[in-house]
Amino acid sequence: MSRNDQLFERAQRRIPGGVNSPVRAFRAVGGTPRFLVRGEGAYVWDADGARYIDYVGSWGPLILGHAHPAVVAAVRETALAGLSFGAPTALEVEMAELLCQALPSIELVRLVSSGTEATMSALRLARGVTGRSLLVKFEGCYHGHADALLVKAGSGALTFGHPSSAGVPAETAAHTLVLGFNDARQLEDAFRTRGAAIAAVIVEPVAGNMNLVPARQEFLEVLRALCTKHGAVLIFDEVMTGFRVGPRGAQGLYGVTPDLTTLGKVIGGGMPVGAFGGRRDIMAQIAPLGPVYQAGTLSGNPVAVAAGLATLKCVLQPGFFERLTATTATLVAGLNAAPRPDAVAFCAAHVGAMFGVYFRARPPESYAEVMQSDRAAFNRFFHALLADGVYLAPSAYEAGFVSAAHSAADIAHTVGAAARALAG
Ligand SMILES: *Cc1c(COP(=O)(O)O)cnc(C)c1O
Repeated sequence: MSRNDQLFERAQRRIPGGVNSPVRAFRAVGGTPRFLVRGEGAYVWDADGARYIDYVGSWGPLILGHAHPAVVAAVRETALAGLSFGAPTALEVEMAELLCQALPSIELVRLVSSGTEATMSALRLARGVTGRSLLVKFEGCYHGHADALLVKAGSGALTFGHPSSAGVPAETAAHTLVLGFNDARQLEDAFRTRGAAIAAVIVEPVAGNMNLVPARQEFLEVLRALCTKHGAVLIFDEVMTGFRVGPRGAQGLYGVTPDLTTLGKVIGGGMPVGAFGGRRDIMAQIAPLGPVYQAGTLSGNPVAVAAGLATLKCVLQPGFFERLTATTATLVAGLNAAPRPDAVAFCAAHVGAMFGVYFRARPPESYAEVMQSDRAAFNRFFHALLADGVYLAPSAYEAGFVSAAHSAADIAHTVGAAARALAG
């Protein structure tokens, strides 16, 4: 029995499903999850000593690759001076200044410890300032696992709260209206009928939790205009896209300004950091300035913030995103050009350093189109690549992440492995 299998057996005895976050479990693709023992640059090694080129990057944070020397040094140095104080530190101020400078829509920002906390807090704040309850989200967008956000529609037009998780009270789900991603017409209808009740609209401007599905420009512009007209708070959930699709996030790419932004992943550089921020008048309603309560024992933790700051300082160097985007574009072009039998519907796309591979003829533009992709074909592709030393997320519905540590040789190997897999 392999070390991976042994560990998985032990894990399943004491941890539900053997994992501490469900997507790690390989349930969608079958097989045993790899227990990772080491990461360096673009590579990870599992418990049996196999090396993989990693396109998960801890699900997005590791934009510099694993164990980047500057990040590790910052963590070491900060840890030596104390792990946590529960009192303000200069590092938090530096992080807040940097976030506000990089994303001009953010005038005040609060640090938290995860993306879930960021979105949950932003939603509470939006409800607090508007005095309204209704939240609009879009099918296939993931905003962490807070009750109000774990709601996903079935197909069809305006659908009220079908919790996609057991344990979410129907009363909670009833305050969440789920609409079609990229469907501006449906959005207009919703605001026409319910506009005065909508506290907030939350959106992943480049959806990355149903594979990669960028918003259409017009969709975000209509969304911005409707929120302004009806006094609803527009929340861009940039937990994944922030400092991943470009130095100013998706809001910079589209030129659309949200009222609030949520961040996570890259801003922690592999440590637990999240943030929410935006318009000063809205953020000033947070405790201790205002009546909306939000708090955290480890919020702005110095060691975590040090890792994030060290990461962001590299990411914001001139030329960083040009190079990283070019690497990602090379990967995607190679995948699209890979020879394959006519019967295999396959394509790839990217935004900045996020990419999607799709087992369908064209990149999807909606949740329904994502659902039409050939999952069985993805699962075979996933295992073929894994056997060839390439680690993709174990699900057809996840985006992929390229880091600054991925070399031309890594990309070439990946494209070769994909071509071999597609040829069957
Ligand atoms: C990952 C993610 C979250 C949740 O962040 P956690 O740190 O896992 O709680 C929220 N929104 C988006 C868009 C994400 O990709």
